[in-house]
Amino acid sequence: MRVLSYHLELDLDRGPDHFGSQSQIACEVMQATDTFLDVSPHRLHVVELDGVTLDPTDLADGRFPLHLDAGEHRLLVSADMAYRNDGEGLHRSVDPADDTTYIYAMSFLDAAPSIFGCFDQPDLKAPYSMRVTAPPEWTVLGNTRASQVSPGRWELAESAPLATYFVTLVAGPYHCLTREHDGIRMGLVAVRSLAEHLDKDADELFGVTAAAFDEYHRLFGIRYPFGDYYQAFVPEFNAGAMENPGCVTFRDEMIFRSQVPDGVRSGRARVIVHEMAHQWFGDLVTMRWWDDLWLNESFAEYMAYRVTDDVTAFRDSWVEFAYGRKRWGMAADQRPSTHPVAGNGAPDAAAALTDFDGISYAKGAAALKQLNAYLGDEVFLAGVRTHLRDHAYGNATLDDLFGAWERAGAEDLRAWSMGWLRTPGLDTLRVGEGQLTRIPPADHPAQRPHGLTVRRVDADNDGRDERLQVVGDATALPWGPEAGTLLIPDARDETWAKVRYDEHTLAALPDRIAEVTDPVTRGAIWLAVRDAVADGDLSCELVLDLLVAGLPAETEDIAVSNLSWWADVFLVGQYLGGDTAASGRVAAALDRRLYTAAPGSGLQLAAALGVAEVSTDSPRLRRWLDGDPPEGLAMDTDMRWLTLTQLARRGGASRADIDAELARDTSSQGVVHAARARASLPDVDTKAAVWTAILTDHELSNAQAYALCEGFWRAEQSELLQPYVARYFAEIASTASFRSGWLVAETAQLLFPSYAAEPATLDLADALLADESLDPGLRRSVSDSRDDLRRAVAIRAG
Ligand SMILES: [Zn+2]
Repeated sequence: MRVLSYHLELDLDRGPDHFGSQSQIACEVMQATDTFLDVSPHRLHVVELDGVTLDPTDLADGRFPLHLDAGEHRLLVSADMAYRNDGEGLHRSVDPADDTTYIYAMSFLDAAPSIFGCFDQPDLKAPYSMRVTAPPEWTVLGNTRASQVSPGRWELAESAPLATYFVTLVAGPYHCLTREHDGIRMGLVAVRSLAEHLDKDADELFGVTAAAFDEYHRLFGIRYPFGDYYQAFVPEFNAGAMENPGCVTFRDEMIFRSQVPDGVRSGRARVIVHEMAHQWFGDLVTMRWWDDLWLNESFAEYMAYRVTDDVTAFRDSWVEFAYGRKRWGMAADQRPSTHPVAGNGAPDAAAALTDFDGISYAKGAAALKQLNAYLGDEVFLAGVRTHLRDHAYGNATLDDLFGAWERAGAEDLRAWSMGWLRTPGLDTLRVGEGQLTRIPPADHPAQRPHGLTVRRVDADNDGRDERLQVVGDATALPWGPEAGTLLIPDARDETWAKVRYDEHTLAALPDRIAEVTDPVTRGAIWLAVRDAVADGDLSCELVLDLLVAGLPAETEDIAVSNLSWWADVFLVGQYLGGDTAASGRVAAALDRRLYTAAPGSGLQLAAALGVAEVSTDSPRLRRWLDGDPPEGLAMDTDMRWLTLTQLARRGGASRADIDAELARDTSSQGVVHAARARASLPDVDTKAAVWTAILTDHELSNAQAYALCEGFWRAEQSELLQPYVARYFAEIASTASFRSGWLVAETAQLLFPSYAAEPATLDLADALLADESLDPGLRRSVSDSRDDLRRAVAIRAG
């Protein structure tokens, strides 16, 4: 089948619950075929095939059966559709700050049929034109330029061929800024109540976008193909962003209302650059089927880290990769649910979504980085250019891309691809006497070649480097272990492996970590050490010593933020059962960083946030809120909320305090902060009410549900929360009866009793996982959280 065109008419002026949707589709089949149309309406009014009316009651489970004779056809589908509040389909929300209504469309992954009748398959690309009716004061944006032809009537010009999952619409009284760069109209969009904050950051956002356009034009040799480029920061968005051609949507928490650490700004820049990479890789050339979704993400991820580092003012991307992104992916690659980067053969969209994880993003990006080093940049880019040119506006597969690389001069990549992309799991690289031993995982043996740098740091120097190619099972090291000396394999964080240091290095680390000047090397050390602790190979005491030694000297706010979060959730919360002496030591180390960092700096802010997170000194945090914070620390809107939430969690704030804070900040983000803070209160009735809301309230929006889940479990409230451990496993599956997709999986993950690290909890998880009928996303969340808990149980058992 070929879809020739879509013409959509949407009526957004019919009140708060439903919108009108009419879809006219032209398509062609080569031979007579029985197929179906995807449509998930509130009420289906009309289905017409070539002028003949069909019976709307034939619709079953979102599929309308069709018999098409050979030749061209015209379909008309007219329906009332329901607005959603879970971040998928046409999401509608009301901003409590000024009571204005906003809408955005999220067709990814399989939500397009809840907006319009379509053939929902990524390789059935077609051009779209659209007419929209909306309240007259609204602005309408979509994949192509929208013109207001009369008050409340908008027309969107015909687009280039798009997959259904790219179709978007952003509508409401949004605040818009536009600027021109190299012939491209760039737009920035946010809800009105965030206008001043968007305006303040416009230069930075436009600057990153323009620099990345220039670089992608240079790297890909194809100009940006979709006309205007709008970036809309929309409310209650599930993901970081979505790469809709011409109109990317972002979560609007990325419009900063308060001061943020520099690492958070660079993280936002990377999301911008990531979505821009997709305009070529993903949007112009789209995967044929969902099983190559990883390729979109791995590629965009690799490009985002590389291009942000190369052409924007933010130079800490690879530091973040080592501290944050990679830990996420390596944890995923060691779970029972691990899967190859490529070739998972997702039978349907829901199965594909469960593999949309740290392996598809971080491991895939690390593999492409290695491949780039292996092929050389010239061959790598030549292959990518050929691939984009050959399949422009169409679809392609992994084999097409590897074919393009081979035509560009790469040798046979089958062995490389087998080790890195088609086999799951990761090797352990262990330092022994004069050699580095490669130990493949027992379940997933493979030849995985590693190109890496070994660094030796002794008493007299800052480090000496040697390149190493690790191919077989043992590779000679240029130096042996030595007392007082650090020997760090993969010191530049180039490969994907568990690294185990020698005894001398481990013993010297607390004394020497502060002397390691390269932040990427420190990130690689923290990656190895945290992985070893999670495996029970290294004691929690040693890593505590290392935090106490390393945090006061840490120069990167990304590192401070990431390590304090890890210390709070994993080290103290899960592994040490909420040990207050341990959290006190971490807090004291962060305090030293806080008071020696430049006042007003991002580093100081990251340290202050860390202190608020781990400190049990409630009176002190209360003084910060009451107007006596450390010098230079701005107690602005978000800092106040974060401090108050931590106080609430430890019993240092009341419901009245939270209400008072909400009176100061009536924004949608204020409402979410307040919900999270209230859910954190160590109070029987509060917990009961929060539980009921999460488990039974069908009206909760995605943002509200996440906030309640985030506040609910707290390591220090174990006694109070004990009854909810068993209730979680008994009740969570029922949420799939009224939630779906992203929301059901995310709430199951956030509400998992992660601090109940006891064998009995594992048994309860196993009993739930034995239920074959579990929603696939919910199953993955429970199974992955169970695996983290298994580690905590083992560590506590010593
Ligand atoms: Zn992406």
